[in-house]
Parts: sequence; structure tokens; C-alpha cells
Amino acid sequence: MNNDRQKKHRSWVDYVLVSSIFTLTVLIGIFIFTNGDSKFQSSISAKTKGEIVNDTQKLLSETKSEFEDIQIVTETSEDPTMPYTLYYPKTKFEQVNKEISQYITKSKENYFNAVRLYKNAHPDKDVVGKYQLFLDIHEHNNSYYSIVFKNKLTVDQANYDISYQTYIFNNHSGELVSTYQLFNQKTENLEVFSKYVKNQLTKNLGKNVYTDKLDSSTAPYWKNYKRLAIINDRLVVYYNSGEIADPSAGTPTVIVPMSYLNPILADSFRTSAISTETIIPVKPTGTGKRVALTFDDGPHEKVTRQILKTLNKYDAKATFFMVGRRVPNNTKLVKDIYNSGHEIGNHTWNHPKLTSLTSKQVMSQLDSTDDAIYKAIGQYPTVFRPPYGAKNKRVTDLIDVPVVMWTIDTLDWKHRNANKLLPMVKNNLHNNAIILMHDIHQSTADGLDSVLAYLQKEGYECVTVSEILASQK
Ligand code: ZN
Repeated sequence: MNNDRQKKHRSWVDYVLVSSIFTLTVLIGIFIFTNGDSKFQSSISAKTKGEIVNDTQKLLSETKSEFEDIQIVTETSEDPTMPYTLYYPKTKFEQVNKEISQYITKSKENYFNAVRLYKNAHPDKDVVGKYQLFLDIHEHNNSYYSIVFKNKLTVDQANYDISYQTYIFNNHSGELVSTYQLFNQKTENLEVFSKYVKNQLTKNLGKNVYTDKLDSSTAPYWKNYKRLAIINDRLVVYYNSGEIADPSAGTPTVIVPMSYLNPILADSFRTSAISTETIIPVKPTGTGKRVALTFDDGPHEKVTRQILKTLNKYDAKATFFMVGRRVPNNTKLVKDIYNSGHEIGNHTWNHPKLTSLTSKQVMSQLDSTDDAIYKAIGQYPTVFRPPYGAKNKRVTDLIDVPVVMWTIDTLDWKHRNANKLLPMVKNNLHNNAIILMHDIHQSTADGLDSVLAYLQKEGYECVTVSEILASQK
């Protein structure tokens, strides 16, 4: 996307950090030694004035934009050491203008501080900074404007740093739109989206990627998805240089057609363009026969591995209801299960009968397992199954994912006989069956191949329990 391939100079970033800490310390100091708000206020404004003393020679001018309700402000300064050129919009909405103006002020201060710190660190050098703020405005569905700011900041001439900031707002009401609103206020939509973004970035960035930073920056938290814009019916996600990949990779972006995202967008953002494929694949319903294979009580390094291999051989998807305490020692296995497209469910931390526990104890069983699974795969389990099938209203009310039982019990835990697995399935088989097995018994792993061969011959597709549940809604 971007041809800015110069190496980012890192040292000034450290100085900015040190300076921020110092500034914060000073402010805390002022706060502690000041009684009464008014004095505190005046100390702060005096300090702010001092900070932007180099900003006195700024020049402002306004021009029309291609949108009649937006003016473009050009702000320049010919300061000998800290010159800058900024372009930003002036809208008819006070709230939007205020947000943007706060951002501009903060950005300029960052720049001034960065130059000062660099100058202090290199007193022998003739330091001249350069700061440019570029502006892009796009309209979507005649209702939303996306504002994209691109910051290009230089303190030592040879190296520069590029970062982005975006705003989306309703051009009738002036309301700023959050990603939470964009994705219809549903965390599961963000989860689908974040998975897609992470896959795209992994693919596009190749060996340049910083894996840890990518993992944390793309995790499904709303705060991770703040730099978005809608441009020409596409959603664009921005990353700064050096944020998730080596700066030589430029500023990574993920660009997704809105039509592909339609199923996870709030109504007013959906596009009328039709996409044959969407981010949520639509399975043909009513055509083939389907079953959900479920495996409880694992993961087990040997047995689950073998089951995984057999499932992959038949391209069958299954659901693994995991016991939380077994997850931390098998994170690689859990990742492999998840990455093969299987579903992961919560089966409590150590398999107690939940109806005999207090609500607090039930919550602890659920939460610790959720956390262990999240740590392993970066996603929370999407379904739950109570040990022994023991549940009541009090227990199920505490669980915020579907509680899934079964329709065929293979009794594999009882007979422990590989040859008995197929007859148990065969004699009870029906469309949309949910089949209970356990991935801690070697006999189950050994008998699975014949079950899958039979299901395939009979025209059954093996899907996750969530897919069965979705088709029955
Ligand atoms: Zn169990």
C-alpha cells in the first residue's frame, strides 16, 4: 500500500516516552502541592502555553473541499526549527471540530517535544524538524464521512515516522461513530472481523510481522479497532509504521469490501452491493445431511492428536469441549485444533457436577476455563457443555454461551471398545445429530476412522455444534 520504506529512527521515541513520564510527574507534583481547583487549572494552562511557544507564527487559511459542508483548514508554521504543514477539516458540527482540534493540539505538542528532545540529545547538530499532517475525506451511503489523517513526522531529516488517525461521523447528525456501532454492537461480530484482519495481515506481512504485537493488536477488543475508514465501499484498517511489523513493511492496511462485511455491519453501514461470499460463510441448508461430532474431557496429547489427524483426513469438523485444567499444558495442541477449523467449547475447569456447587464456584469454573482457552488461541470458547450433563436453571443462567447437550451417546467411556463406536452411532443416526464422545480414551480415537468413513458414505457432513444450532434457529 505504502511506499514509505525508510527506516524509522527509534531513539526519539524513547525520549518522547521519558518526556511524557517527566511531564506527568510534574503535573502530579502540581496536583499534590495545590489546594483548590482554580490554582491547579492555572498551573496547567501556564504549562500548556509554555509548551507551544513555538507555535506563535502559525498561519491559517481556509479553502473549500469537495464536500460543501466541509472546509479545509491549512495551518502552517515557518518556525526555523519546528516548521509544519497541517490540513484538517472544519465541519458544521461542533463536537467533531472539537475532537479534531484536540487531536491537532496533541499531535503538534508531540512533534515539538520530539524535536526538542532530539535537539537536547544532539546539541552539536543543526536540528530542523518537519511535520506534515495530510487529510483524506470520504463519504459513504450519503450518510457518513470518514476522515483519515496521515502524520508524517521527522526530527532528524533522514528518518520519518508515519502514523494514522481516523474519525467516522454521521453527516446529518454530527454523531461520531465508534467501531462498536459499526459492527452492530456485537462482540461476536468483532471476533469474526478480528480473525479475518489477523489472517490478512499474517498473509500480507510474511516474515516482516512482529508476531506478538500482531496478536495483541488484532485481539478482539474494541480499543484495538479504532483506526478505520470507509473508502469507496471498502473498510480500511490502518496500522502505523513499526506497530505490527518491521518499518520496512511500510504502514500495513487491511482493505475489505463492505459487501463482504454486510452480515456483521449495522444496518445503516451495509452496502447494496452484493458479494457472492461474505465474512460469514453461508452453508447450503436443507441440502446435505449433517451431524456434529463432539469430544469431551480433553485435550489429551496422544488421543486428541490422533483424533485431529483422522478428522483432517475426512475434512470433518468437530467440537472439543475442553477441561480447563488440561489446557495450559497443551496450548500447542489447542491451537492446532482451533486452526484446523474445529470449534472449542468450555467443559469446566476440573469437571465437577455444577448443580452441587455455589454460583460463585460455578462462575470460577467457567471463567478460569474461558481464560485458559483465550490464552491458548486468542478466542473465547463459543459453547458450553456441563459435566455429566448436570444442569439446572440457576446454573444455565450463569452461562452466556449456548449450553449444548447431545442426541447420541456413544457410551465410549463405558465400553472402551473401538469396535463398538460405529454401531452406537449407526443404530441411532439421524440428521442434525449431536454425537457425544471423549477424546481421552484410546479406543475412541481408534474407532473414529470407521465412524467417519460410514458418515461419509451415507452423505453426512460433519460440522461444528454451532452450525447445527444455527440451522435449528
Ligand atoms: Zn465430561
